[in-house]
Amino acid sequence: MAVTLKPADHIAHWIDGKPYRETGARAQDVFNPATGAVVRQVELGSANTVKKAIESAKAAFTAWSNVPPIRRARIMNNYLNLLNQHKDALAAVLTQEHGKVFSDAQGEVTRGIDIVEFACGIPQLLKGDYTDQVSTDIDNWTMRQPLGVVAGITPFNFPCMVPMWMFPVAIACGNTFVLKPSERDPSASLLMAELLKEAGLPDGVFNVVQGDKVAVDTLLEDPDVKALSFVGSTPIAQYIYQTGAAHGKRVQALGGAKNHMVVMPDANLDVAVDGLIGAAYGSAGERCMAISVAVLVGDIADKIIPRLAERAKQLKIANGMESDAEMGPVITQAAKDRIEGYIAAGVAQGASLVVDGRGVKVPGHENGFFVGGTLFDHVTPEMSIYTDEIFGPVLVCVRVKSLEEAVKLINDHEYGNGVSCYTSDGHVAREFSRNIQVGMVGINVPIPVPMAWHGFGGWKRSLFGDMHAYGEEGVRFYTKQKSIMQRWPETIAAGAEFAMPVAK
Ligand code: NAD
Repeated sequence: MAVTLKPADHIAHWIDGKPYRETGARAQDVFNPATGAVVRQVELGSANTVKKAIESAKAAFTAWSNVPPIRRARIMNNYLNLLNQHKDALAAVLTQEHGKVFSDAQGEVTRGIDIVEFACGIPQLLKGDYTDQVSTDIDNWTMRQPLGVVAGITPFNFPCMVPMWMFPVAIACGNTFVLKPSERDPSASLLMAELLKEAGLPDGVFNVVQGDKVAVDTLLEDPDVKALSFVGSTPIAQYIYQTGAAHGKRVQALGGAKNHMVVMPDANLDVAVDGLIGAAYGSAGERCMAISVAVLVGDIADKIIPRLAERAKQLKIANGMESDAEMGPVITQAAKDRIEGYIAAGVAQGASLVVDGRGVKVPGHENGFFVGGTLFDHVTPEMSIYTDEIFGPVLVCVRVKSLEEAVKLINDHEYGNGVSCYTSDGHVAREFSRNIQVGMVGINVPIPVPMAWHGFGGWKRSLFGDMHAYGEEGVRFYTKQKSIMQRWPETIAAGAEFAMPVAK
């Protein structure tokens, strides 16, 4: 059966290798944010539906965990090929439901595919270690075994990539998976499920439940769910971490961000302007690695602000499917209202509004949820536009006198996801990288999202838990280590030993 990737009108669940619909289920509208129109409906799963998905995953676990890693890797390889074939169809669905421009959506799918490619190397990653003759006639080795049923709860801003930070690694390690995607752009989850089936994944290994807090709380409380990966806002990440841990689960919960870019006086101005504009306004600022604060050191501020203002005003804001679109809408009318509320608060609190993105109109898309690129100058650390994650196309500029002041400002912020420093001085770059209290650092790189084999994770209130997503940390998160010590004596030794065994 060749898959034709087309989202259904009614988005439901995927359980036991096939679509599942619940009778009498709650449902909510899914919008195209560029037009403001309802494009389909998504079911909000009940606890019973979630339990059905967990049961399916539990039933599939023993057989799947016994499939040799090389055969699991081959299925991942089939999935990789299918994703490459259907990349544009997936990207179009992302643009329709999320609003990001099509080229950005293609990039999102590609970064997800990278993780699948990483997961294809699982036989090498699961190799244990071994000590021959750890003591006379005794060998000792470690192996990593899967946990069982694991779950992923994901945000709206990367409906394809963030789930793929999780399930390819989890499944390749031999776990079975239940995904609870964002209810705001749910279609990609089912398309990925169809492709996994086409790739040869046995039924029950990957399940999807649509829903809201009801579904999430069921996953948090069910004893058969052994681990939870979460990506979303900080208050919910903290709730997931605490509640999951209270129920005895392993949890990694990635939260919100406020990412700074330091521009040093010796930075190449053209390069810094390009970096800031793309990282602040790309995906309408709805990236956890978006740059939302420019920290301008010394006299660079007076040179760079007019350049940023000019570019922010010229942004091509349009439906993301238009080929020249640079920035699409934000996700919902509520998000637009919230972002515009922050802009009003910034003005009221005394920041200088250099470019105002409120009231932007896109011809032919009058009901779309558009906010224009917004730029503030003379922002100070106590203002809400500085303290809070706005998650929209709003760039705030803070002026500081020195690198030390810049580093202190960033280290004092509650979030520590990503950060960037633009400079021509290697010593500055080195000092900055070593002293900054942030998980992912870019030097003349605006959005330093680590590649698939390096692992992704912030510090401070941007990550609850101690293991990052994907890469080798991902493999560690989805497996537990077992140590085996073995002896085959020619004859059973005489007598018990009561002292602590030591190497002999
Ligand atoms: P969100 O926290 O509102 O939702 C994330 C998930 O949690 C969704 O699946 C949602 O259904 C569920 N959820 C929402 N409220 C809940 C509740 N009260 N109880 C249980 N579950 C609940 O986040 P969002 O708006 O979808 O995504 C944007 C946020 O995600 C931003 O804060 C962004 O920084 C963050 N994010 C972080 C990373 C990272 O790697 N650190 C990556 C992407 C997004």
